Amino acid sequence: MGWLVTGGAGYIGAHVVRAFQAAGIEATVLDDLSSGISSFVPDGVPVVRASLLDRAAVREALHGIDGVVHVAGFKYAGVSVQRPLHTYEQNVSAMVILLQEMLEAGVDKLVFSSSAATFGVPDVDLVTETTATRPESPYGESKLIGEWLLADVGRANGLQHTSLRYFNVVGSGTPELYDASPHNLFPLVFDALVNGRTPKIFGTDYDTPDGTCVRDYIHVSDLAEAHVAAAQRLAAGQEIEPIYNLGSGEGSSVRQIMDTIREVTGIDFEPELHPRRPGDPDRIVATGELAARDLGWQMRHTLQQMVASAWEARQKAGDSYPG
Ligand code: UDP
Repeated sequence: MGWLVTGGAGYIGAHVVRAFQAAGIEATVLDDLSSGISSFVPDGVPVVRASLLDRAAVREALHGIDGVVHVAGFKYAGVSVQRPLHTYEQNVSAMVILLQEMLEAGVDKLVFSSSAATFGVPDVDLVTETTATRPESPYGESKLIGEWLLADVGRANGLQHTSLRYFNVVGSGTPELYDASPHNLFPLVFDALVNGRTPKIFGTDYDTPDGTCVRDYIHVSDLAEAHVAAAQRLAAGQEIEPIYNLGSGEGSSVRQIMDTIREVTGIDFEPELHPRRPGDPDRIVATGELAARDLGWQMRHTLQQMVASAWEARQKAGDSYPG
């Protein structure tokens, strides 16, 4: 019974599990704990500790499952350039096994965690679901392949599916859950502040109003709720789009984020200015109109709330924070 959340011990997956619980839907977690944290899974939620590449474990985990939210994957775009085969194995080979075993088990509903990285460097100010996809990393490519896999298996085998393209996911829905990504802006800035170092801005000469990159920051709890809405829509047999952009329509620059962090934490700092990080687009902001129409998607949190909740969780993690 219930839904299987792959990657349910990770920062995003654990929020998805909580959102399912809040909606009264049972969840089971499949996670190899390579980056997930077992204490992120709420008490009472069954956890299968296994890789998706372990076909027998996947088969076992799918017993009695109604649908799958597939969050597990290797998510570091920059690192994926150095580790393409690892990325494809984790994100594509694993997904093929998952889909094969879902068909075998008669599980015919899937919500997939896709990414804004499928767009690469968009040439429009506001990305929509029809904006051309030109991924610039093996990570972005692997997510696009995931979307193609779903379209093909949907056509051939009747799989009901949707892909949710995440933009910049930040914040915490509960102080127990923090983002420990060693590559993203929020955790890197917090890490610097906690350890008495100065946060860094990568690139101040972008074609944006203040010269720093503009991104579409969304709160992880809002994101998690969209997964529940998608699952419910699939379960009810309602029409669903193959792809939704989970964006807010609003962009914030790295400088604006730094200002908000300074304001919320009360720590006065002046960021170090560094050259551009390779592969970062000037701006990537999406409209979430389609998701608002079908999935009740809306920004229930301000940027201040995103920063404050993330900072609270980071502080609460204390010595248990990885690294
Ligand atoms: N960034 C930064 N300092 C950091 C980490 C990130 O200036 O310590 C910038 C990065 O160059 C990008 C933005 O913050 O312009 C968001 O980066 P993140 O890695 O969080 O997300 P993504 O690159 O996937 O949009």
